[in-house]
Amino acid sequence: MPDSRRKCPYCQGQIARESIILWRPFGCPHCHQLIVLVQRYGWFQGIACLAILIACSASLIVAFHLNWVLSIVAGLIFGVALSTLARKFLQRHWPGPPNLVAYITRDSPEALKSVLVLVESVAEADASEQHNSQLELVRSQISLDDALENAALELTAYLKSSLQGLPFRKVKGLQGNLSPDATRQELRSIALDLRQAMEQ
Ligand SMILES: [Zn+2]
Repeated sequence: MPDSRRKCPYCQGQIARESIILWRPFGCPHCHQLIVLVQRYGWFQGIACLAILIACSASLIVAFHLNWVLSIVAGLIFGVALSTLARKFLQRHWPGPPNLVAYITRDSPEALKSVLVLVESVAEADASEQHNSQLELVRSQISLDDALENAALELTAYLKSSLQGLPFRKVKGLQGNLSPDATRQELRSIALDLRQAMEQ
């Protein structure tokens, strides 16, 4: 029986498990619109975090007469930690299928274009070519919370480091290490998705 939760939110086409990219937003194989996998229980974590923050800060202020700024900071730390543990517990015991939702990029077409130009040139470059200043410049121009652009830049930095034999940072959410050729292939696929994001 087809699983309704792995349908593209745009074209309703079924998306095979192997076509789902877990670590970044990606284009639907049918209609190419950008979609992203969201964690189950994400809404639960948000509500739980807020409830713990309010309860914890209020009790610190009322019962212990603690400074209100310190109380809110303590409540926030406690709320994030506890709600994350609770979400992981729910995911582990009641995993269920993931949800696919429409992905909307937060940045302007100009910012997307500068990421795209960098990704395309790094994907085809060899080890001798340096893009350090471009990478830093583009990084300073984009939203920190734009998942597609951040994935593109992290993978760009990853490829550069592996070509130059430098130690590289892990790319957030990406399982295992990629060979330089596999990384180039992945960058080309990100470039296609960035083009789609510019049109969306
Ligand atoms: Zn689709």
